[in-house]
Amino acid sequence: SYFQLVTTPLGSDPHPPFIITVENITERKRLEEVRRDFVANVSHELKTPVGGIVLLADALSQETDPATVLRLSHRILDEGDRLARLVTDLLDLSKLEETELHQIHDVNLNDVAAECIDRYRLGAEARGIKLTVDLDAQVPLVSGDRWQLSSALSNLVDNAIKYSEPNSEVRLAVKVLATTVQVTVSDQGIGIPARDLTRIFERFYRVDADRSRATGGTGLGLSIVRHVIENHQGSIEVTSTEGVGTTFTIALPRVEA
Ligand code: ADP
Repeated sequence: SYFQLVTTPLGSDPHPPFIITVENITERKRLEEVRRDFVANVSHELKTPVGGIVLLADALSQETDPATVLRLSHRILDEGDRLARLVTDLLDLSKLEETELHQIHDVNLNDVAAECIDRYRLGAEARGIKLTVDLDAQVPLVSGDRWQLSSALSNLVDNAIKYSEPNSEVRLAVKVLATTVQVTVSDQGIGIPARDLTRIFERFYRVDADRSRATGGTGLGLSIVRHVIENHQGSIEVTSTEGVGTTFTIALPRVEA
């Protein structure tokens, strides 16, 4: 724990009496540390693709062999892509941190789920992964920001596909419960080791940084999801078995019927 002594003069005489208070600044210190780590991480994450692009472009400018020119161009595109994704995720995250919800409506989670599946179906099929959806016939309304909820579901489905092998299934289910609407995203993918389960919601935390980068991950997806769920007074849980699969379960308070 950290403490700080604060001296407060009483009155404005040249030599006023004063009181000394002891403040517990542990939480402030912790937040400062989180912020510092974040800035260091962001700098590191940005430097890698930027550095790559500069080196590759330099090589490209001196290259005449058409096949090599093509190969270098594609690698520059990949790095540029990664940079763009990182910037988008960082902007999303900073928007989400203003915890106020600006656009509050009754949101039908069936629609959000169906839209999300539409967005990913072709990409998943191209990788040999079957995307299925199981909606609730009862209208599952929650109060919140549709853009945020859609980005949370998309991040979970994106991960489920990213960390799965061909010939497996990713399932998105929406279910109305007594006081909440439950959304589950399950996959039959590589799974998450038990020791990492509590940390995956931290910014930039990855179980396997190489694999995450190779699949285009920024390490920010689950922090975005966590923020969205917190902003909506919901909860999120994860269960996983390595080599068997992972299930994320979100519960959001229902709009009173
Ligand atoms: P990333 O951009 O690396 O996917 P996330 O914040 O979305 O970052 O996820 C953090 C880490 O959690 C990932 O790097 C990955 O190791 C692990 N992870 C997330 N979802 C899954 C999943 N469905 N199956 C296996 N591992 C996962």
